[in-house]
Amino acid sequence: MLLAGDIGGTKTLLGLFDPLPARPRPVATASFGTLAFPDLPTMIAGFLDAHRVAGRTVEAACFGVAGPVLGEAAELTNVPWRVDARHVSTVFDIRRVALLNDLEALGHAVPVLTEAEVHVLQAGEALRGGNMALIAAGTGLGEALLHNVGGRFLPSASEGGHADFAARTERDIAVLRALTARFGRVDVERVVSGHGLLNLHPVLHKDRCAAGVDLEAPDAAARISAAAVARTCAGCIETLDEFIEAYGAEAGNLALRAKATGGVYVGGGIAPKILAALEAGPFMRAFRAKPPLDELVAGVPVKVILNPDAGLLGAAVFAGQLNG
Ligand SMILES: [Zn+2]
Repeated sequence: MLLAGDIGGTKTLLGLFDPLPARPRPVATASFGTLAFPDLPTMIAGFLDAHRVAGRTVEAACFGVAGPVLGEAAELTNVPWRVDARHVSTVFDIRRVALLNDLEALGHAVPVLTEAEVHVLQAGEALRGGNMALIAAGTGLGEALLHNVGGRFLPSASEGGHADFAARTERDIAVLRALTARFGRVDVERVVSGHGLLNLHPVLHKDRCAAGVDLEAPDAAARISAAAVARTCAGCIETLDEFIEAYGAEAGNLALRAKATGGVYVGGGIAPKILAALEAGPFMRAFRAKPPLDELVAGVPVKVILNPDAGLLGAAVFAGQLNG
C-alpha cells in the first residue's frame, strides 16, 4: 500500500492508497488539525492504528509539505514541525519515503484529474508537447511548473509567489504604492492570497467597511469574499475585484513564463469558493491581456481544481512512482 500526506499549516490529510497503475485508489483518508499533534510520526501512528489493513504493509510514502523542502527534511511555515523523511522511514519501516513541496505534490495529481474534478474557465486547446502550470492562492500563493518531457509531465516547485507584484492598472498602482509604504517590497503573494485580501481591504475602502469585517478575526478573508459576493459593502466588492484581476493577471504571467500551452490549473482553497466571481470575466480578461501574445494565452486551457483532496492524491501518485 501507499501512504500519502498533505501537510498544511492548519490542516493535514493522511491517506492509505492501493497502488493502481493509472491512479492510486484511496482505501482510507482522514483529516487532522496539524497543531493538535507534536509531530508527524505521532499523527501517522494514530492514523495507521485506526486504518491499517491486516496483512498489508506500506511500501512507499510521500508527503506534500507547506514549506521549503531541503534534502530529506522540511521546516513547515507557521507550524513548529520539522518533517524528516528518513525518520519516518525508520520509525514505520517504510522502504521509500519522499517529501515534496505541497504545490509539487499537487502537480503530480494534475495529469490524473478527471473532468468532474475541474471547472473549465477557458476551454482553449492544449497543444501537444506543451508544458502545464499550476497556481494556487490559499493562505499564501504557490506556483509550480509541469515540464512536458516526451509526453510525461514533471512537476517542479517554484517560489514564484514571492516574485514582484506587477502593477498594470491605476488601481494596481495605488495598491502598489500603499503596500510598498507598508512592507517595503510587494511580492505578488502580498496581493494574491488570503493574506492579500486582508492587505487590500484597508487600501480599497474609502469609507468604513459596511460589512463590519474585523481584519484580526481568523475568518476575515472569507468574510471579505462573502461580503463582496453578497454585495453588502462597496469596499469589499472593490477588494475582491482587485484580488480576482491580479490573480488572473498573475496566472497569465505564469502561462507566459512556463509557456504553458498545455494548460494552466488554478488550485488552492480560495478559487472553488469564489467560482461564480472567477467566471464573471475579469479573471480571464486579465489572464488574456498579454499583447503581443494575447492569441497564445487565449488558446491555453484554464481549469479550477475542485477536488479538495487533490494534493493528497498527488502525493499518492508520487509514492506510487517511488514504488514502481
Ligand atoms: Zn467592506
